[in-house]
Parts: sequence; C-alpha cells; structure tokens
Amino acid sequence: MFGAFFISLNMNSFKIPGTNLPLKTIYCIGRNYSEHAKELNNEVPNSPIVFLKPQSSICFDGDKIKIPKQSKDVHHEVELVVAISKDGKNIPEEDAKHYIHSIGIGIDFTARDIQQQAKEKGHPWSIAKGFDTFAPISSFVSVNKIQDLHNLDLKLLVNNTSQQFGNTSQMIFNIEYLISFLSSIFHLQEGDLIFTGTPKGVSSIQKGDKIKAILGENLATLSVSVT
Ligand code: ZN
Repeated sequence: MFGAFFISLNMNSFKIPGTNLPLKTIYCIGRNYSEHAKELNNEVPNSPIVFLKPQSSICFDGDKIKIPKQSKDVHHEVELVVAISKDGKNIPEEDAKHYIHSIGIGIDFTARDIQQQAKEKGHPWSIAKGFDTFAPISSFVSVNKIQDLHNLDLKLLVNNTSQQFGNTSQMIFNIEYLISFLSSIFHLQEGDLIFTGTPKGVSSIQKGDKIKAILGENLATLSVSVT
C-alpha cells in the first residue's frame, strides 16, 4: 500500500531523463526495419504499425528488467526514441523536424510468446508490450547536437556480445513521416515519446543477462540487467 502510493507519485512526476519534459504518451512503431520484419516472418507494412505502452513500463539506465511470470520468451528490441517538443495535430512532414526535442535509445521489451498468441487471435499487443520495466530509456540528447538523424547506428549487446546492429537509414518510415502520420490521428503533446522500431537481431533474454544499448558513437547509452 505504502509502496503503491510512492509508485503512483513517481509516475505523475516522470521527467524524460536529460530533459525537463514531463513524460506523456508512449507511441511505438512495429516492423519499421524490413530485415526485422523478415526475421519474424512478417510482411513489410505499407503504412506504420502503431501501438502504445503504459507509463508504468518505463524504467531507466541502471534499472533491473523483470521477466513476468506470464512469459517464457521475452525479447529485446533496441530502438531510437524521439521526444516530442510541442503540441501538434496534422503536422506536415516538412514541418515535423521542428517537433523533435531530443533523442535517446530505448529497448522495447516484448513477450514474444504472448504477442504470437495475440497475433494468431487478432488481439491487441498491449499485454505483450506493456509489462512493468518493458520500456527502459536512456538520457536524451538535444536534437541540435545531432548531425544527421537518418544516419545513426543502433547497437545492442547482451553480456558484451553484439546481438543487434542497425542504422536509422534503414527505417521503412523515417522520423518525420512517423511524426506526421501519428499527428494525423493523435494530438501529439510535448513530452510524448516515439519508439521508432527495431533492426534485426532480436533474441530471448535470460535472468542474469546484462544488456547494453548504444546510440551512435556513445551519444546515448543504456545499461540494464535482467532479474
Ligand atoms: Zn519494437
């Protein structure tokens, strides 16, 4: 009871690390790298696949990832994460860059067994994607410090072994397109996050694993361990 009180207090005051932005909605894009779509035998989409994660799934650098008792197959998905700078609706693609506040690296943890069942039944992915600690994020870096958003390496190491490697140039739908697309449906708000999809190399995590995600040449890093 006491713990729950503090947890809810904390959730209301989440700031995106490295910024003064209060965390709002967490949007995620599925299958935004064709090599990843292929490794899971999925079709490459012709418009973005969108899902949301709850704020309670957010955690931070140094935190512990909990494998939920409901899953035997939790996968890591390393992703570029964009923080939105201001409110907007129906944002044209050519204006979208003005809505990017900062970027970080995050991991979209996914209970693949639960997701697979949901896919087969045509059910939503909210449970597979939404467990506590399933959305760790790094500290964010101002977009002004980034030379080229469309040429950033994403790396993920498990126990110091390289497991995922990709580059934002491989996205099917680029960041500006995603902002424009999302804002045609949702009223975007200052402090929203967009997880922009994962490159190939996803795999199962195990208790005791040490996971490190790196954006560019150490622009942002995120280290978590699995319990
Ligand atoms: Zn993902």
